[in-house]
Amino acid sequence: MWIGLMTLFLFSNCVASFKQAKLVRKLELLPRRREYLCEACQSSPPIGNFWRCPHCGQGTDLFVRQGTCTECGRLIDFIPCVDKGIILFQTRRV
Ligand SMILES: [Zn+2]
Ligand SMILES: [Zn+2]
Repeated sequence: MWIGLMTLFLFSNCVASFKQAKLVRKLELLPRRREYLCEACQSSPPIGNFWRCPHCGQGTDLFVRQGTCTECGRLIDFIPCVDKGIILFQTRRV
């Protein structure tokens, strides 16, 4: 148990060298939407208001309504990956 915690702690320190380390560590503990995968890093998006709508500027969870803002109802074609901050999920299936 303690060894596990130590390993976790050391690993966390490692990750801490990255800019968004705190955020990343927090994100790792969040429930994820397994039905979506980032096209860049294959991680699933967390559940919650982690995105800012480019149309109305409100924080929203873009996966609640398949890429539609829960505040203004506009469709967002590409949702950025929360883990890497780059491209990510295409909401419109081709
Ligand atoms: Zn990603
Ligand atoms: Zn909006």
